[in-house]
Amino acid sequence: MRAVGCPDCGASIGLAAGLQPGDLAECPNCAGHALRLHESAGHWFATLAYRVSCPECDEVITLPDDVKAGDLVRCCGRTYRLTFEFGAYAAEED
Ligand SMILES: [Zn+2]
Ligand SMILES: [Zn+2]
Repeated sequence: MRAVGCPDCGASIGLAAGLQPGDLAECPNCAGHALRLHESAGHWFATLAYRVSCPECDEVITLPDDVKAGDLVRCCGRTYRLTFEFGAYAAEED
């Protein structure tokens, strides 16, 4: 079974068959983010894919790899500004 290390907590996470580079996996220890899978020359690794909950509908939005505090996300026809605190992103009404 293929496995990747969580870049945050270091746990080894087994990958289900059929996952492709760019797909998301879950770390059982880390609730604030998912893991985005990458493959390079047959070697699999993961980067953090931060997530944020919409303050309005609680939908969980997975943020792009190059996200940074101050970026805007859209949900529910509104725009929210991202803040980064305590290792996690939050969405605040702009
Ligand atoms: Zn983890
Ligand atoms: Zn929403």
